Amino acid sequence: MKAEIIAVGSEMLTPDRIDTNSLFLTEELNKLGIEVVRKSIVGDNRDYLSAAFHEALERVELIIASGGLGPTEDDLTRETVADLLGRKLVLNNAILQYIEGRFRQLGREMPAVNVRQAMVPEGAEVLENPRGSAPGLWLEARGRRIALLPGPPRELKPMFHEQVLPRLERLGSGIRMFHRELRVAGMGESAVEQRIKPIYTRYADVNTTILAAPGEIQIHLRLWTGDAAHAQKTLDDITQSFQLALADRIFSQDGSSMEEVVAHILSMNNATISAAESCTGGLLAQRLTTIAGSSSYFLGGVVCYSNELKTAWADVPPELILSKGAVSSEVAIALAHGIRRSTGSTLGVGITGIAGPGGGSEEKPVGTVHVAISHAAGVKERGTRFPGDRETIRWHASQLALDMVRIHFLYNGGEPPARTSARS
Ligand code: ATP
Ligand code: MG
Repeated sequence: MKAEIIAVGSEMLTPDRIDTNSLFLTEELNKLGIEVVRKSIVGDNRDYLSAAFHEALERVELIIASGGLGPTEDDLTRETVADLLGRKLVLNNAILQYIEGRFRQLGREMPAVNVRQAMVPEGAEVLENPRGSAPGLWLEARGRRIALLPGPPRELKPMFHEQVLPRLERLGSGIRMFHRELRVAGMGESAVEQRIKPIYTRYADVNTTILAAPGEIQIHLRLWTGDAAHAQKTLDDITQSFQLALADRIFSQDGSSMEEVVAHILSMNNATISAAESCTGGLLAQRLTTIAGSSSYFLGGVVCYSNELKTAWADVPPELILSKGAVSSEVAIALAHGIRRSTGSTLGVGITGIAGPGGGSEEKPVGTVHVAISHAAGVKERGTRFPGDRETIRWHASQLALDMVRIHFLYNGGEPPARTSARS
């Protein structure tokens, strides 16, 4: 089945508010195997609203609308849809009593305008709204189904789960959407695409989307079927082939973030970590500590911007900074060793670089970053140059550091086996 979503409200046509209801609704509909083929945002205008519903009714069997069910003049959804379907609005006494009761509880009298919320198009089913005053409405006409839901997400979401979902399940064909999200680090979008295209094009029934996010590429696989075993097997097969094509670059097979993956690895290995950060200004520590329970593996860190503090806090020899420069592989390594020794952690991370926009030179342009991971048996260091603005460079640097920690444990602290490099 195909569906459209109509978000009603002029505020979402301003820069101040965004329509988030449709994201929730799309996710829920997809789970039921219902594909959302179009979304519209329509202001509080009777003609535009009427046209939006009219067109959607021509195209799809299911329309879910949110907003515009309130009591005020600009809440037009109920009246517009009733008009369009040629249905009269009838006063529903049960709703009226409910709304009056709500006002009474607050010690107030119901304003006359609220009567509008008790008007129901002929033949419509009322979707109760215990969290707000406006009920939702379910209409069936000309083989189409229309759900009109209130705008506030805290009312819409439970109403969807409690009242819309059971109705859709009854209609359902048993077809559901199966979804898997893989995440890839250290490669660009086109390099990923080039390697996996020959694989995913073999699976005609799987929809593959490649999305570039800061520091990573996300691959979404979606499959609509009524056969769960077939879906699992197909997604497993594709994932396995992707793993061969992308080697150790896939860091997540369930959509989890890099920091979640690294947190899990550190916990599984009973390992602890500390960081001495220059260019990332604490971003690595921040990302590692967003995860609940991080105190079991993250011991602490320092942000040492000045050369003096690199020496005072992470024991970097001043001569080294003088001879190699603060942004150098040698200083990254010294930062990593220094912080590991002073905290007694299993791993120490050192990050130094030039996030820009100033401070670059011909030899060390903006974006130059060195990351080192110190461990009991030695150290790993990587120097690279990231594109982008200050924020992007800092994010990339923290992502590289986390990825190096992941790789360290992937190969048990040893070197990755020789392979055709998947790095771009
Ligand atoms: P009410 O009875 O509260 O007036 P309503 O059905 O008329 O309900 P609206 O007036 O359109 O809903 O919206 C109420 C509030 O709900 C908005 O101020 C906005 O914060 C939120 N809202 C409306 N539509 C959306 C949407 N599509 N996504 C996210 N929030 C929304
Ligand atoms: Mg309103």
